[in-house]
Amino acid sequence: MFGIKKRNGDDIYRLALVAHDGKKPDMLKWAKQNAKTLNKFKLFGTGTTGGMLKKELGLSIKTLKSGPLGGDAQLGAMISEEKLDCLIFFIDPLSSQPHDVDVKSLTRLAVLYDTALALNEETADAIIEHMKRKRL
Ligand code: PGA
Repeated sequence: MFGIKKRNGDDIYRLALVAHDGKKPDMLKWAKQNAKTLNKFKLFGTGTTGGMLKKELGLSIKTLKSGPLGGDAQLGAMISEEKLDCLIFFIDPLSSQPHDVDVKSLTRLAVLYDTALALNEETADAIIEHMKRKRL
């Protein structure tokens, strides 16, 4: 059965939101549509993505460093320490990233630790629908 593991004993899921620059408008739109559900998570975000969601939608989100300055690496460390349950990362498949190695490392660690991972909106929707059905 499809499920998302909670790594800590808490009731609350820890979810990170990240979007490359070319996908930030899509992230904003998606997060706006799902703000009610997202507010039920403990939220983390890379610097620019998190700052945008806080400012535009008023989400309570802990911002890390900007992705290219180490934010993706911070999220990777959280995953390896089992401090993150879900990662929604809207990657831009049409631009190259200066921190591509960090992006690769982050997605690799998410796979390695079997962390729920959405790289596009359709999968992010599936995760959110699942959470809603579980009434989280
Ligand atoms: P940003 O980082 O939210 O600070 O722009 C995103 C990324 O990892 O590229």
